[in-house]
Amino acid sequence: MSINRILLTESVNDLFGHLGVTLNEDSIDALEAYYDAVIEANKEFNLTSITAKDEFVVKHLIDSIAGVGFIPENAKVIDVGSGGGFPSFPIAAVRTDCSVTALDSTAKKMNFVGNTARFLGVKNLTTVVGRAEECKSLFGKYDVVTARAVSALPILLEICSPLIKVGGVMLAYKTDESELEVSKTALEKLNMTHKTSFSFNLPTGDRRSILVFEKTAPTPNQYPRQYGQIKKRPL
Ligand code: SAM
Repeated sequence: MSINRILLTESVNDLFGHLGVTLNEDSIDALEAYYDAVIEANKEFNLTSITAKDEFVVKHLIDSIAGVGFIPENAKVIDVGSGGGFPSFPIAAVRTDCSVTALDSTAKKMNFVGNTARFLGVKNLTTVVGRAEECKSLFGKYDVVTARAVSALPILLEICSPLIKVGGVMLAYKTDESELEVSKTALEKLNMTHKTSFSFNLPTGDRRSILVFEKTAPTPNQYPRQYGQIKKRPL
């Protein structure tokens, strides 16, 4: 089933072209094939409630690509709570220079994402099953961590920031900047600083913001705490 390639290409140009983001035919082919794979798998288990073609293009593909302009060349990227592969799959398809790891605690979802990436020849995407705050062997290994629709920002900062190298960035996919105010303590304690935000409207009119944070020093040893503590007492 073909998706609306014009909607995808023109929207990416209009919204993210000024950040240097463009799509080539191979990337678009991979994204189109991913749509088919998600719809097929969705019959067996729930990956997404967004299945209508244009809505999928806008709310999954274009939304996921919004962070691409903030990813340095040849970066090692990890997507925390990747679920059905968003934003990890679109990022890997568009940025073949980067190596992308999709991480999620649900094995079924990661099996789907990993198998589909292999089947479609998207070689720069691999998967890990686990909870971000427990993956100690991955701490300090990534240039960029992304996360969309995973948790409130203070919690997200604690589970994501340990994965980044000092000088690396976290891209939080949010609707707006409203969570910044309640995240000040978390930012300070985790040696993270808010660098910039990129706000835009999807073609549907829905507001979105990519919040960009930089890790300025190593994560203090007491973080991340166990998830029960993180959730019960967010920083
Ligand atoms: N990022 C995807 C998206 O935007 O469509 C999926 C969002 S889904 C609402 C949240 C996902 O985060 C779930 O698949 C869940 O298993 C995963 N998750 C939540 N907390 C996590 C953690 N601490 N470590 C790894 N995965 C986590």
